[in-house]
Amino acid sequence: MKCSACGHEAELMWVVEVGKGRAALCLDCQSKYQQIQVTKHNMLVDEMNYLAEEIDFVSGFPGSPRYRRVPSITQINPRNESHITVNADQIGIVNSGSIGEINSAITLTKQSNNPQIGDDLRSLTELILSDKDVTNEIRDSLIESLAFLAEQLKQDNQSRKRSMISTVLVNITSSIGAVTGALGIWEKVKPFFESCLK
Ligand SMILES: [Zn+2]
Repeated sequence: MKCSACGHEAELMWVVEVGKGRAALCLDCQSKYQQIQVTKHNMLVDEMNYLAEEIDFVSGFPGSPRYRRVPSITQINPRNESHITVNADQIGIVNSGSIGEINSAITLTKQSNNPQIGDDLRSLTELILSDKDVTNEIRDSLIESLAFLAEQLKQDNQSRKRSMISTVLVNITSSIGAVTGALGIWEKVKPFFESCLK
């Protein structure tokens, strides 16, 4: 089963309610999610305790019971710093399968003689995911296009869909300008895909 947040493949998953839907999270992402819940809980507790103190002050009878804060959980290091991680508010919005494909391409390039490309590919994907001004259509199309290229990297020379690859490269080039700061990174990543996939 694939994690809805990072695309990591794992046997054991935690199902959590996110917005109107549900997401299956791996151990790492579940621990991050839990941390967010604890922070939210403690913020609410602080607010309620402040109100209780105010009531004590006005009524002149101090010492009414207070809600307890939950101790914060020790942060567990992410599994792999060099991979794309999806924020809690992005869970369910992006296709985790696509992120998984891009992550496996990052792993591939890290092992190649061009490891910088993996970092560029990660920065590019994270820029696309985090840019609030990009429409859903453009974001989905860019992420799916990158995932397609990533998937084609794994194929052997004969199985590659060359005309699709050319079309996708053109499409990304024409819409990447919508993402702030992404064009410069794309101009470094694009020649890599062109040379590997031709
Ligand atoms: Zn995960």
